[in-house]
Amino acid sequence: MSNVGKLISGFRVFKSTTFPQKQDMIQHLIEQGQKPTTMVISCADIRLAPAELFAANPGELYIINNIGGLVPKYDTQGIHGILSAIEYAVTILEVENIIVLGHAKCSGIKMMLSEEFTAKNSKLSESMKTWLSVASEARDIVKKQMSDKSEEEQQASCEQESLIISLRNLMTYPYIAKRMRENKLNIFGWHFDIESGDIMAFDPDTKFFEPIS
Ligand SMILES: [Zn+2]
Repeated sequence: MSNVGKLISGFRVFKSTTFPQKQDMIQHLIEQGQKPTTMVISCADIRLAPAELFAANPGELYIINNIGGLVPKYDTQGIHGILSAIEYAVTILEVENIIVLGHAKCSGIKMMLSEEFTAKNSKLSESMKTWLSVASEARDIVKKQMSDKSEEEQQASCEQESLIISLRNLMTYPYIAKRMRENKLNIFGWHFDIESGDIMAFDPDTKFFEPIS
């Protein structure tokens, strides 16, 4: 069976079991409209879907996926899809939480750390480089401060530095800063280890990542 065939049989299981179980909830969402309390900005390559990771029901999470789970600065030119999705979630849906969700073994971050990212005749497209540049400061920090460390250690640090940059970039959105001042919005940076199943959360006070238990 092709991969699509596997998806189709998975859909049949969903339609015959999961959908009837959640039909009342879905009908309620259709009538009331979506009112998620949390937006998750996660890497597209997370290998475990945020809804599954947080045992969330339909309508609970507003999820934006992109390479690396990155957040550009407010009003970044040439990158509009994610900016409009963030604006919609915060100003229209009025989410109360934003979780920026990175993960271990991230191939997007690995690409940013590779020589290809800065090579003159790079195989990476300009659009890929423009996107990854959102967090290239993380690369600069790691390359400067961790040149004697292994590739694995550099990557793990770069994943966490990228998360911190994304959190900082979120603060450049005036409507996000305003809602945070009014205690209507909280932002979190979480790093998921796909091997151990653990999540490390960034603590803005200590500047360290601490495990969530
Ligand atoms: Zn990733």
